[in-house]
Amino acid sequence: MGIESRYRDVLEQVESCTRACGRDPHEVKLVAVSKTVGLEGVASALAGGAVDFGENRPDQILVKSKEYPQANWHFIGNIQSRRIPDIVASSSLIHSLYQLSHARKIDEEALSLGKVQDVLVEVNVSGEESKSGLAPQDVIPFVLECAELQNVRLRGLMTMAPQGDAQVAKACFDGLAQLACEVREALPAEKASVFSELSMGMSEDWNEAISSGATIVRIGRAIFSDNFEDADMVR
Ligand SMILES: *Cc1c(COP(=O)(O)O)cnc(C)c1O
Repeated sequence: MGIESRYRDVLEQVESCTRACGRDPHEVKLVAVSKTVGLEGVASALAGGAVDFGENRPDQILVKSKEYPQANWHFIGNIQSRRIPDIVASSSLIHSLYQLSHARKIDEEALSLGKVQDVLVEVNVSGEESKSGLAPQDVIPFVLECAELQNVRLRGLMTMAPQGDAQVAKACFDGLAQLACEVREALPAEKASVFSELSMGMSEDWNEAISSGATIVRIGRAIFSDNFEDADMVR
C-alpha cells in the first residue's frame, strides 16, 4: 500500500472510531504529519484527499506550504524565536506555543502580515522530562496573558502522551480535556467559545485520544511509513 491509499485507510479508521465514540466524524480533523517525507510524499497524500498537514521544522513548512498553498499547514515543532516570521507566514495553526516571549513575537509578526494567528498551547500533562510544554498548573495564567494579544487567537490545547501504554495515554488525554474545560471557565465568554480544539493522538494512540475528545489527531508514520505497526502498544 502506498501513501495515497494509507491516507484514505487512516481517514476511514479515524471516522469510524469517532462514530463508535458516539461523536460526529466532522468533529475530528486528521492532520497528516509529513515531516519524514518530501514534496512527492505530500503530493501522494493530497491525491488521497488530505487537506491538513503537520510539520515540525520551519524550513520544511515554508517550502511545502509554498508548493502546496491549497492545503492547511500546521506547525507542530519546537518554536525558535528567530524562526517565528517563517512559522507565522506559513502556518494556519501553531500547535506548540508555551512561552510568553514567543506569543508576543507571534503577535507582532501576525500584525505585520495582517493576519490573526491561531495557536494552541502545548501542555506537558504527563510531566515527562523529555516532553516540552507548560505544566498543567501554569496553563491558565499563561492563557490569560496571551488573551491580551490582539493578533493571536487561542484555539485550545495540545499534548503528547507517553508512549507504550494505552491506559497511561488515555489518562493523559483525559487530563488535557479536563484542563481545557477549566481554561474555558477562566476566559471571557467570547474567547472561551473559540477555545475548542484538543490536538492529541498520534499513530499509536489516536484511538484513545478520540475517545477522550480529541478534535485534531496528528498522524505521521501510519500514513507515510511503509512498515508502521502499532504492535509496541500495550492495550
Ligand atoms: C512526529 C509527530 C507526530 C506524528 O507522530 P507519528 O507517531 O509518526 O504519528 C505528531 N505530533 C508531533 C508533535 C510530532 O512531532
